[in-house]
Amino acid sequence: MYIVFLGPPGAGKGTYSNLTSKWLGIPVISTGDILRNAIENGTPLGKRVEIYVDSGELVPDEVIEKLVDETLDSEAANKGIIFDGFPRTVNQAEILHRLIENRGSKLDLVIELYADDEEIVQRLSSRRVCPECNAIYNLITGPPKNDSKCDICGTEIVQREDDKPETIQHRLNVYRKQTAPLLEFYHNKAGLKCIIVDTNGLPDVGRDALRKKLLENEVISE
Ligand code: ADP
Ligand code: ZN
Repeated sequence: MYIVFLGPPGAGKGTYSNLTSKWLGIPVISTGDILRNAIENGTPLGKRVEIYVDSGELVPDEVIEKLVDETLDSEAANKGIIFDGFPRTVNQAEILHRLIENRGSKLDLVIELYADDEEIVQRLSSRRVCPECNAIYNLITGPPKNDSKCDICGTEIVQREDDKPETIQHRLNVYRKQTAPLLEFYHNKAGLKCIIVDTNGLPDVGRDALRKKLLENEVISE
């Protein structure tokens, strides 16, 4: 099964794609996490993409295509993949379509998350991440139990470079201009199931709403 999570930065794609992954037993690929890890480790990929990621610009499509193509071939992906942060442009959606079709399969579901701008800005400013295991925290609504150390691996949590106030607004603009047109593209695609989840409020509220819709659409069962 192939699932795409769509929505603005801060709508909860990371949080809810990981939950869905647990419910379905299918791995998530977060292109953002892969790129950030590459930057952190100073790999050739990291060096190539750093300037884009840190400033909130999109990385060129061919770089992303290679990443996704490799992931689709990995052993872990044999039951399917949940995409977080890809596709991000109509062109990338066409790339995804082609990559999946080449493997004799099709995209099963698009999950669109939305939250109000005010809430998004608030969430991104108080978001912290673990640079080691990519766990996500929120200083206000979900801080780590032990001061500023990751609950899972004990690493010091950090603020993402692109979660600094001056970059947040720019990412929202990039989203509106380059990614939002994808919503219409997918909603108009015949035979494709799309569900929309309001993620305003605390994570539990969005989780329950998402679970209910996945049950209704028979993506998961009780
Ligand atoms: P968010 O959804 O919170 O903005 P992501 O972790 O998905 O964060 O992405 C962070 C950054 O990584 C983006 O601003 C962009 O620079 C890069 N990136 C991630 N996925 C893609 C993609 N599919 N295409 C182009 N750039 C991407
Ligand atoms: Zn960690």
